[in-house]
Amino acid sequence: MWNLQEYRFASNPAEAVALMRKGPGKGAYIAGGTDMLLEHPTCDFVVDINKAGIGDIARTAGGDLFIGAAATLQVLADNVFVTGFAGGAVSVAASKCGNRPVRTTATVGGNLCNALPSADMAPVLLALDATCYITDEDSQESLPLTDFFVGPRLTVLEDRLLVGVGLPGECAGWRCASHKLTRTAEDISLVQVAVSLGVDDGRIQEARIALGAVAPVPMRAILAETMLMGQEITAVTPDFMRDVAAIAAGECDPLDDHRASAEYRRDMVSVLTRRLVARILTDDGDNREGGAA
Ligand SMILES: Cc1cc2nc3c(=O)[nH]c(=O)nc-3n(C[C@H](O)[C@H](O)[C@H](O)COP(=O)(O)OP(=O)(O)OC[C@H]3O[C@@H](n4cnc5c(N)ncnc54)[C@H](O)[C@@H]3O)c2cc1C
Repeated sequence: MWNLQEYRFASNPAEAVALMRKGPGKGAYIAGGTDMLLEHPTCDFVVDINKAGIGDIARTAGGDLFIGAAATLQVLADNVFVTGFAGGAVSVAASKCGNRPVRTTATVGGNLCNALPSADMAPVLLALDATCYITDEDSQESLPLTDFFVGPRLTVLEDRLLVGVGLPGECAGWRCASHKLTRTAEDISLVQVAVSLGVDDGRIQEARIALGAVAPVPMRAILAETMLMGQEITAVTPDFMRDVAAIAAGECDPLDDHRASAEYRRDMVSVLTRRLVARILTDDGDNREGGAA
């Protein structure tokens, strides 16, 4: 049973961390509460971060996209800066999380900080080289999203606050697409794959392949990415892609559970990787319709 004794509101990020450390008892941050309230939390108090000024979305002069941790998934789905970045891939991924009532409450920060291997926002953000911004009471840290997840439901945060994520301006023109394999949009992902390619002069200059729900943490398929990097588009034949996809499937470490077997998940990583790369290379990279992989 939830033994909540105090509900604290933070008006800025540093205050949120200070309130978290103000004992006694065990506290937790709360944003949308859509994960937390499902899980019968054992905390004595919560620190509400919705008024801490970390919900904004902005493009910097250099073209980087900053997404505040308390931005809701529906805002991500609709925001003009997000729909205009990398073909709108982040917006499309957000629009496929849960249902509209959930998305209007659930935040991107909560999705990442809950740190499920299947967190739906993680693959697309990993595929666009996201950086996490973390605050302590009197210091800030930034680190690649690849280093944020430590294990299932575990991040580097401890009692610090995730302030937001940044996507570098160089990725704005990348072609990016993701696919969530699931029974219904409200179900947990069986497999998630996100691919982004920086294509220039008929050649793949940059490649990212990110996978969700197939390892203890959301991950990148680095070996498969390396195979794609530097390839001329004309060299990306079906046979070559079968090899790349097989390498990506070999890099993950899926679980057998009641939802799907490890073998099926691995096969789906291969299929989706192949299809997403083909789709990106044959499309104009615009994701707004979010078609099936
Ligand atoms: C019906 C339903 C359907 C769902 N469908 C999906 C789905 O399709 N895909 C999917 O990925 N998820 C889904 N979810 C899960 C959930 O909605 C998302 O993970 C959501 O983004 C969590 O955000 P939140 O703001 O509600 O997090 P909260 O529940 O408020 O917080 C989650 C955790 O993160 C911590 N936290 C939150 N923000 C911060 C921060 N800024 N810094 C540090 N710690 C923080 C909290 O302390 C808590 O431990 C679904 C949930 C429901 C109820």
